[in-house]
Amino acid sequence: MTAQPRPDRVPTGRFAPSPSGPLHAGSLLAALASFIDAKAQGGRWLLRFDDIDSDRSRADAVADICHCLAAHGLHHDGDVLFQSRRTPYYDAALDTLSRQNRLYGCACTRAALRERAERAGHSRYDRQCASRQFELDNHAVRVRVDDRLVQWWEGDAWSQERVRDTAGDFVLKRRDGVYAYQLAIVVDDSEDQVTTVTRGADLRDNTGRQVYLQHLLALSTPRYLHVPLVLGEDGRKLSKSNGAVAVDASRPLANLLAAWSRLNQSEPPNRIETVNGFLDWAGQNWQPALASDRHC
Ligand SMILES: [Zn+2]
Repeated sequence: MTAQPRPDRVPTGRFAPSPSGPLHAGSLLAALASFIDAKAQGGRWLLRFDDIDSDRSRADAVADICHCLAAHGLHHDGDVLFQSRRTPYYDAALDTLSRQNRLYGCACTRAALRERAERAGHSRYDRQCASRQFELDNHAVRVRVDDRLVQWWEGDAWSQERVRDTAGDFVLKRRDGVYAYQLAIVVDDSEDQVTTVTRGADLRDNTGRQVYLQHLLALSTPRYLHVPLVLGEDGRKLSKSNGAVAVDASRPLANLLAAWSRLNQSEPPNRIETVNGFLDWAGQNWQPALASDRHC
């Protein structure tokens, strides 16, 4: 194992919410962590809307989220980015993989996959369609994975995964033509030259597949930091779909302090009374390794 990777470009973080509702405490926590991590390195912080799934996207949510971030002093660098405008880049990545002869069409229905996963006791794809030679159009598109071990910097240590043993051949594009999160995010983070991906711990399981795609597409692998989830009273992750309460933008400092404490960071001094005062102090006192959900 080698040392922590050093980015050879401007440190860049991003916050990538899906515009399906207003910010809740969990998404504010991810926004704060990615913002402070970028600013602590003197870098850029980008705002990108993961609006590729247009069924779940709401136009008013974009304005809401932008307003709420600004109220918390979390000002992004550059233009606001939208996944939905990136389809040509995803097409190009899929083309590259197709030319490498790594893709195949999959006709399995969700119900059939679920039933086979239950029988097998795991959800790794069983490659039932791998040799059927379905066309890629009008089918889900899967990438054939080999047995390579991929690794990435995770919070404060290296992580590794053999995707063939975990997810197996995974979906890059759904049957309805929508690109899967795995492909879109890898292309986006490369386009945006992101050096650290900071996001909620519920997304950690995707990392191996994403690093695998970075290998195939000859893209560099950013550092990853998965931060703790904020749980609702029912013990489940707060999410827009279970009706999490919107962050109250009229009390930004209190919200930021609560998020900071959940990130397992040292307590700020009492003299801090403003949002900007807090953000300046936080940038100087940020300890990313402590914010990893493995330590919280
Ligand atoms: Zn299949």
